[in-house]
Amino acid sequence: MDDDPTTRKLVQAVLSKHGYEVLLAPTGQDGVDTFISHRPDLVLMDVQMPGMNGFDACALIRQLDGHATPIIMLTGSEDLESIESAFTAGATDFITKPINFPLLAQRVRYALRSSELNRELRGVRQRQAAAQRIAGLGFWVWTADYNQLEWSDDAGTLLGGEPPTTLADLLTTVHPGDRNRVGQAFLAVRESGGKLDVEFRLHDDAPVGERIITMTGERAEEDDPLQPARVFGAFQNVTDSRRTQAMVDYLAFHDELTGLANRRLFVSQIRDFLATPEAGHLGLMVSWIDLARFARVNEALGESSGDALLAQVAQRLKSASAGSVGLARVGGDEFGLALRCRNESEAEDKLQRVVQALDQAFTVNDQEVFVSVCAGWSLSLEHGQEAEALLNQARDAQQQARLQGYKTLKASKNQNATRHLGSLDVEMELRKALQNNQFVLHYQPQMALRGNRIVGVESLLRWQHPVRGMVPPVQFIPLLEDMGLIQEVGAWVLREACRQATEWANAGMPLRVAVNLSPRQFMGTELFGLIQSAVEAHQTPAHLVELEITESLAMQDPDRAIELLTQLRAAGYKVAIDDFGIGHSSLEYLLRFPIDTIKIDRAFVMRVTETETDRAVIRAITAIAQSLQLTTVSEGVETQRQCDFMEALGASEIQGYFISRPLPEAALKAFVQNFKYAPGG
Ligand code: C2E
Ligand code: CA
Ligand code: CA
Repeated sequence: MDDDPTTRKLVQAVLSKHGYEVLLAPTGQDGVDTFISHRPDLVLMDVQMPGMNGFDACALIRQLDGHATPIIMLTGSEDLESIESAFTAGATDFITKPINFPLLAQRVRYALRSSELNRELRGVRQRQAAAQRIAGLGFWVWTADYNQLEWSDDAGTLLGGEPPTTLADLLTTVHPGDRNRVGQAFLAVRESGGKLDVEFRLHDDAPVGERIITMTGERAEEDDPLQPARVFGAFQNVTDSRRTQAMVDYLAFHDELTGLANRRLFVSQIRDFLATPEAGHLGLMVSWIDLARFARVNEALGESSGDALLAQVAQRLKSASAGSVGLARVGGDEFGLALRCRNESEAEDKLQRVVQALDQAFTVNDQEVFVSVCAGWSLSLEHGQEAEALLNQARDAQQQARLQGYKTLKASKNQNATRHLGSLDVEMELRKALQNNQFVLHYQPQMALRGNRIVGVESLLRWQHPVRGMVPPVQFIPLLEDMGLIQEVGAWVLREACRQATEWANAGMPLRVAVNLSPRQFMGTELFGLIQSAVEAHQTPAHLVELEITESLAMQDPDRAIELLTQLRAAGYKVAIDDFGIGHSSLEYLLRFPIDTIKIDRAFVMRVTETETDRAVIRAITAIAQSLQLTTVSEGVETQRQCDFMEALGASEIQGYFISRPLPEAALKAFVQNFKYAPGG
């Protein structure tokens, strides 16, 4: 609003250039009308205008909309009086004339931003107040030394009558049967700190009737010993939830951590649905969803992070499966989901979407975490109308899915009660695999770029199943971990790798042999002894044994990791950090951990020919590695081009299909003996 047409035009030009939409008004009255009809986000107005002046227009707008819209007034410079009047009329800010145009847009942006923040804050406060009211929640402070109790405003309504001002006062409102306990609890926090947590009834003839209150609180830790001891806390009217026993029922049927239904409730939800007429023509899909890598997250980041992750998974499942018949936590890291589905393809689509939602990264403790999801499902129209049976079939299908490397898998057709043994079979088979000599190691060669010779191999575990054929480790190592068998199998891997290393060395082909360690092996106390005895049994030169650990593993307990790694290296073994670059990668660890080798993850290598940032990351890693005299192995090199790039970026060794796939022992030996690297050939 400005009566001067030149100012109007200039302001419009400047602000439009910054992307604002500007409405112009030549008088105060026009300005107020425009405000009413358009509700702009911000008002900029001159003080001096014929007719209704700026102060009056400002005051009028304030009457209309409280203090929501920022108003900036244009005043003469150094005209303190009109600046004063502008604020009195309700202006948010002022700008002096002549207008400093470069600053104008900035001031406008600032005013808009702070009004936005104010609005949000008001919203938060309102929601908070509403939540407190609904929850019957209030606050209190007890200054113990002066025996003085103070309450938030709503205390009167919640407790009935005037809020008590001393502890004794409070106790008179408490039911005589609870009085002593409440008094003791207060005295205990006053004396020895800690937490207060009491629940009590108000006395029988309290004006608000029968009522149950909980008070929780904590003594404030004062730095200043002269400060009186104070206890802060909240109180809540929990009459309704206690009286109806809703809470008790809730806990019996829900999982405490995620708030989801538990297995019992889930099964009864399925049963209830199947009993409805709707279920006759509409099918139900029941799925069993398992987080394969969860145990590792738990071990690497600690239990409370594991809990946080589970809660987030539950949250994501909830939003990805709106309108479901049931969603439950049916096991530690296992979830059940029941969805209405007309047919198989609809079921498949819906489950696919849920699984995809879980494939996105989670953020736990400021760290990106991925879970690997594997789900099995059954369909009421095909697998029967029995709730328990549907769930069991879904679970069996999930275990099959994991073994066969599928993300999702439908339960097989003619399932019956004996089908259940199928999954147990797998566990049984895995348990026996060791005795039955079904495990073998394959070896993938690693070529040094200097000299182009094979200098080492990584041993990779395979399960040679009589029926299924060669099973890759991603499909059964998580199972071994879950079943607690990884220690035993890991020990076998160590012995076998040492035996092989010695055999090659004795045949005049000394190769460094790398062994992967799983989290459980690494955390166990017997690891060092295990390695020593494997090496001693086969007289393996220690420098030929390399141990691959992942960063997340080392991070879990860095001090312990450093101690163990130091011990291993002192004994002459090599230590490699596996999959470097994907986990918690921090170059800081390179400096802190005593290691020999960094294995640059395949993900980086895959992108090295395409993206500059990945090249920059690799360059940074190799530069530091060089200065620390560490070996860098590029994993998963598949093409000549990737190999050239990695060489140019300073990697020292190459591993990947470009050199060779992992090979059985005999083939590996022949490969190494005949190996001739012919770049470009
Ligand atoms: P990893 O340690 O990262 O092993 C490298 C994986 O990448 C191997 O898969 C290997 O076959 C594959 N690979 C190698 N070169 C290429 C390539 O050029 N392209 C592609 N696409 N892939 C390549 P594998 O053998 O299936 O092993 C998978 C994971 O299983 C290993 O990942 C390791 O974490 C684990 N693992 C294998 N053996 C053992 C073992 O004895 N103990 C433990 N604890 N874990 C093992
Ligand atoms: Ca490895
Ligand atoms: Ca790796």
